Amino acid sequence: MNLPSICLSIAVGAALCGPARADAPPLPRPRPADAPAVAVIEREPSACQVRLMALAQFEPMAPRPDAGGCGAADLVRVSAIQLATGAVTVTPPAELRCEMAEQLALWIRDDAMPQFAPNMLAGIENYDSYDCRARNRVKGARISEHGKGNAIDIRAFDLAGGKVVRPTDVTVPHALRDKLREAACARFTTVLGPGSDGYHEAHIHLDLAERHNGYRICHWEVNDPGAVTVAAIPLPPARPSGLNDKSTELPSK
Ligand SMILES: [Zn+2]
Repeated sequence: MNLPSICLSIAVGAALCGPARADAPPLPRPRPADAPAVAVIEREPSACQVRLMALAQFEPMAPRPDAGGCGAADLVRVSAIQLATGAVTVTPPAELRCEMAEQLALWIRDDAMPQFAPNMLAGIENYDSYDCRARNRVKGARISEHGKGNAIDIRAFDLAGGKVVRPTDVTVPHALRDKLREAACARFTTVLGPGSDGYHEAHIHLDLAERHNGYRICHWEVNDPGAVTVAAIPLPPARPSGLNDKSTELPSK
């Protein structure tokens, strides 16, 4: 009597085929504990990702599921901004919503890079990107735009040749920092730096938070050496949602 041929699917999608034995039916091979249960599904790039291909080196990421106010779709991990003159590395690579990554790339390419000429911009130091946490890591505060893949914190610009330029450093030329600030505030809906709330004295926070009435926050004081900042006092708690008072709206950081 001929035994039928059978196939067993295993976790990674391959199939084992062979003759069946009546006395010892073959069992699926156990899946290693750390193996993915579901194969990665190839997705069509979003329209944003298609645009980003001309601006940056990146890889698409699986969406972060909604949980506790966090979560984001159309996420990418950006490892470099592409310029005509070469790549500006992002260290470590930044996990961002594609549209935030696109604006970051445009800011670096069109706004920031020209300010460093004739020096070449070689990299930016990413202090934080996607991060499911409360604003300023304050327990009980509202979820940060970082928890939506909508924000990045930048600590420094690295120039070719090794020089590091910290945008919060008062010894960096005032005019350069002014230009960076001006362009950032024109492009992003939230910009926080020194003088904002005491949490941004050593990095610049950029995000694309959407607020009613298109309200934007640009709070980065470009100080000179010896200047005394008045910012070491954190802002009061957020107002209940639904209240429309520009003067008290709080940043998302
Ligand atoms: Zn931030």
